[in-house]
Amino acid sequence: MTFVAELRSDLGPAGILTGSDAAPYLTGQRGLFSGEALAVVRPASVDETARVVQACAAYGVAIVPQGGNTGMSGGAVPTAGDTPMPAIVLSMSRMNRIVSVDPDRWTVTAEAGATIGALQQAADAANRQFAPDWGARGTATVGGAIATNAGGNNVLRYGTMRDQVLGVEAVLADGQVWDGLRALRKDSSGYDLKHLFIGAEGTLGVVTRAVLRLHPATPNAQSALAAISGLGSLMRLLELALARCGGDVTAFELVPDVGLARVCEKLGLSRPLQTRAEF
Ligand SMILES: Cc1cc2nc3c(=O)[nH]c(=O)nc-3n(C[C@H](O)[C@H](O)[C@H](O)COP(=O)(O)OP(=O)(O)OC[C@H]3O[C@@H](n4cnc5c(N)ncnc54)[C@H](O)[C@@H]3O)c2cc1C
Repeated sequence: MTFVAELRSDLGPAGILTGSDAAPYLTGQRGLFSGEALAVVRPASVDETARVVQACAAYGVAIVPQGGNTGMSGGAVPTAGDTPMPAIVLSMSRMNRIVSVDPDRWTVTAEAGATIGALQQAADAANRQFAPDWGARGTATVGGAIATNAGGNNVLRYGTMRDQVLGVEAVLADGQVWDGLRALRKDSSGYDLKHLFIGAEGTLGVVTRAVLRLHPATPNAQSALAAISGLGSLMRLLELALARCGGDVTAFELVPDVGLARVCEKLGLSRPLQTRAEF
């Protein structure tokens, strides 16, 4: 049996995409990166992921893990010339369950393919907040966000994904499952190996599940739009906001005039402020 046929017989038809079914997974969303793969493989469990990785090791096939494919730098598609080996895209799209929300421990446990938006909704329903947030929330996944140490709008107050991850489970290159799925906030038990998978872009293993930190909901959060006379005032404005809010500023974004103009033009909006920035 060939490599692809072996995987198809193990995972079933929903677990393997080839031909035109695979095409959307082989191109980055902005069309800047594209490549080829033997197949797009979609395991539905940790055990299936481990078996796929074992088969790849046995057949000498490279693995490109993929979450929502929203990354900006082509890491989720097998770009031509990346490796002399044939490759598969290992899509986590079928492992998209929120496993549990624990309001008392302030944690959410999710599979790697769960979206950031799904985490936020699950946390909301428990009167908690999953704090990281960015434009691709409806598509970007837990695994991709961990693998890129994603940040987003709320980094100022809550930090990056590294600050949210309490535990990780990952499948290593030989197919072993590394179980670091802990929920402890104060874990003094030795080397904190989970950090090796955060920001590693899948080079050290495939993240399959994670335990992530929740924060108090902020139902009374307020947003303000301010005009500054020049970039020199930018950090003074942040200092003022931090001083007035007791340090609790969640986000602080600089919008250059060209960006504001483009948004107003595209959405048919009038400018929110009369003054135009010089930058
Ligand atoms: C509109 C928009 C706004 C964005 N804003 C921000 C922002 O403010 N801040 C920010 O940091 N990013 C931002 N991004 C980039 C992107 O959303 C993040 O990098 C996100 O974390 C990628 O998640 P993903 O599931 O789409 O990962 P993918 O793009 O699928 O993969 C990204 C990388 O992670 C690896 N990977 C994916 N899943 C796994 C896994 N389970 N195990 C191991 N490796 C894996 C891939 O191989 C690849 O190297 C934005 C993107 C868009 C489109």
